[in-house]
Amino acid sequence: MKNRTLLMIPGPIEFEPTVLSAMGEPTTSHLAPEFIEAFGQALQQMRQVFDSPSGQPLVLAGSGTLAMDCAGANLVQPGDKALVVDTGYFSERFATILERYGAQVTRISSSPGSRPELGLIKSALESDTYKLMTITHVDTSTAVLTDVQQIASLAKQYGVLVIVDGVCSVAGEELHMEAWGVDLTLTASQKAVGVPPGLALLMIGARALEAFHNRTAPVLNYYADWTNWLPIMQAYEARKASYFGTPAVNHIFALNVSLGQILAEGMSKRVARHIAISQACKAGIEALGMGQVPLKPEYAAHTLSAPRYPKGVNGADFLNRVSQAGVTLAGGLHPAIRSEYFRIGHMGAVTLADVLATISAIESALAGCGYTFTPGAGVAATQVAGRASL
Ligand code: PMP
Repeated sequence: MKNRTLLMIPGPIEFEPTVLSAMGEPTTSHLAPEFIEAFGQALQQMRQVFDSPSGQPLVLAGSGTLAMDCAGANLVQPGDKALVVDTGYFSERFATILERYGAQVTRISSSPGSRPELGLIKSALESDTYKLMTITHVDTSTAVLTDVQQIASLAKQYGVLVIVDGVCSVAGEELHMEAWGVDLTLTASQKAVGVPPGLALLMIGARALEAFHNRTAPVLNYYADWTNWLPIMQAYEARKASYFGTPAVNHIFALNVSLGQILAEGMSKRVARHIAISQACKAGIEALGMGQVPLKPEYAAHTLSAPRYPKGVNGADFLNRVSQAGVTLAGGLHPAIRSEYFRIGHMGAVTLADVLATISAIESALAGCGYTFTPGAGVAATQVAGRASL
């Protein structure tokens, strides 16, 4: 009998066995020819996944927060003005990071489940001169998807650098970094990229690199300073050994395997699969009479769902029962509504069968919590929606 639950939180996710076995291979030297080749390949594959043909990829040992910190440290100089398009907990984290490096941050806020109107962003851009803007592509605290393409194209008109937190979107949501005019996108390994937690990934566009090279103040973070890392990334890509800090050898082997699988599926097929899986999951949630945190369907992400608890259902009791039914889900995260909802991650290698098992576990937990509904209604709706689109 399997003694583990199905991991359906918004990261870390369930990983492919081939990726996990790459992690478990005997560790090589970071200067070994096979590692240099794997790292070089991984960097090249990243460009395709981010759709940034001329971007500079950067891989660091660390989590998504390090990737955010790295972007902030290298692009902000004390006194720079920054705009944060705020869709929740992780947007606020970016604001805090930018402030730590001395930026004057203006937040364009929205209530939980909503996202700032384009008009508000436009008037902010008109009323001051900003160096950069951050957008959280999918805010994992609210499951809200931001329209990066639209906002980035607006930002371009004002010459503002666009930084995208793609931790919960890259390799799951549609993203054409270069065509959309995004200057830097960052993510982490443990979500749709499909590698256990431990890697911070950045793709730096030409204008962001230029802004970095034009700095007049030192980067206030030694480890994350691009001066240290850019030559290393360029060397590995040219299949040359190089050293600044020991790379996460096993993780990078695994990253190369996962990126290969992602590109073998094909980016447009992969995004379409995430949309179909998301629709199937959301159909099940709706059929069980639950609302969702995103206030409009077009605001809803495809990498996770955030259902609201039905009246009378206690979150801790519910999540415990879901776990007993074999599935691990996540609780709420946005401080203003934390106890009112839970989160289901559905990204990476996820299948319709995983979502069906999840909806079934949710039904079992809801029944245990005393909520009345038609048994099987969620599973049936998920199946119908999934069959129609997968
Ligand atoms: N941004 C977003 C959108 C996230 O979902 C997360 C992690 N859930 C982070 C940043 C931070 O990443 P990490 O936990 O890997 O530091």
